Amino acid sequence: MPYEEDRKYWYDGQGLWDHVPEDDWKSWTWQLRNRITSLEQLEQYMELTPDEREGCLFANKKLALAITPYFFNLIDRNDPNCPIRKQVIPRVCEMTTNAEEMLDPVGEDSHSPVPGIVHRYPDRVLFLVTDRCAAYCRYCTRSRLVSNAQDYNFHPQYEAGLKYIEEHPEVRDVLLSGGDPLLLSDSKLDYLLGRLREIDHVEFIRIGSRIPVFMPQRITEGLCDVFRKHGPLWMSIHVNHPRECTQELKDACERLSFSGVPLGNQSVLLKGVNDDVEVMKALIHRLLRMRVRPYYLYQCDLITGSSHLRANVCKGIEIMKQLRGHTTGYAVPQFVIDAPGGGGKVPMNPQYITKLDEEAIHFKNFEGNLYRYPLKTYPVEDDCRCNKEEILL
Ligand SMILES: *Cc1c(COP(=O)(O)O)cnc(C)c1O
Repeated sequence: MPYEEDRKYWYDGQGLWDHVPEDDWKSWTWQLRNRITSLEQLEQYMELTPDEREGCLFANKKLALAITPYFFNLIDRNDPNCPIRKQVIPRVCEMTTNAEEMLDPVGEDSHSPVPGIVHRYPDRVLFLVTDRCAAYCRYCTRSRLVSNAQDYNFHPQYEAGLKYIEEHPEVRDVLLSGGDPLLLSDSKLDYLLGRLREIDHVEFIRIGSRIPVFMPQRITEGLCDVFRKHGPLWMSIHVNHPRECTQELKDACERLSFSGVPLGNQSVLLKGVNDDVEVMKALIHRLLRMRVRPYYLYQCDLITGSSHLRANVCKGIEIMKQLRGHTTGYAVPQFVIDAPGGGGKVPMNPQYITKLDEEAIHFKNFEGNLYRYPLKTYPVEDDCRCNKEEILL
């Protein structure tokens, strides 16, 4: 069944905050100052389920509660199963650690040569520049350090991080994340990006941020000026559900695009949020209309207290099978598992290859029809010398 809102598109307006002057609403510092951060505030605006209520009481021991007014407006307050609600309102099951769940599910701390740097891949590093976000995703893979609810006491060490990158000429790609790097002031970002730009071997910089989604007001002309100055700069945003694709987000994405920042999207496969092919299609189609290229779809990491939101891996592969070939190639993200313990991102694909013999590779297309392609090339000496077992298993 097609996603029912597919044509009805962008949400617009101040909703519950209609009484607030428009200049305030459009100011990102107003959005930050007026975040919903307590059970009492939340209950002023909506009725919670007992499960959520209890979740809020415990939230500050695991991962703080914070929701921007802008993002809160996207919640359907009459629907306990609202896909937006599930992402940001705590539930009591967050406090339960299930089998195989971990505090540091993708082994970042063990790949961290200096605080804030995660160096897992040969040619690129992750640089954590803050432990704060505009709002907190309940399935956060860095909940051990983000928001400091677990007393991790993360303190970004910019100079130590910059020094590490300077001393490692193999690092050609630096990915700023956190926490959310766009919570830093324009001048701090200008400084950090400028310092990175001065390093000859750093070819380009990336930023991972959910702020365009939680608080599109942050994407100001001033910020765009900083990005224009320090490009090439790429950005990955984090949209999980088509309802997050609002007019405000679309405008913010265009401001970024027109400042020379190519945009990708990273979604997390979440149970009851986007583990449905029609919802996923609506999402990725809207992303393309906002000039955002779906990049990764993540299997939810084995972070403590996330089992209620984790969909089955097979469900993810099934969704991928229903996307590839059935819609625009640009719209199809790569489904990955970030390997537990620290193996990095590994693609999880439907199996298209059915057989590999001496003569040919045999495979299915998106409709399930069988095809073959010969292995022999001419002249014969150029024959495929690849390790067939390596490729298939
Ligand atoms: C995700 C990630 C990257 C970037 O991976 P790409 O596949 O290049 O997008 C780099 N370092 C770490 C530690 C990561 O988790």
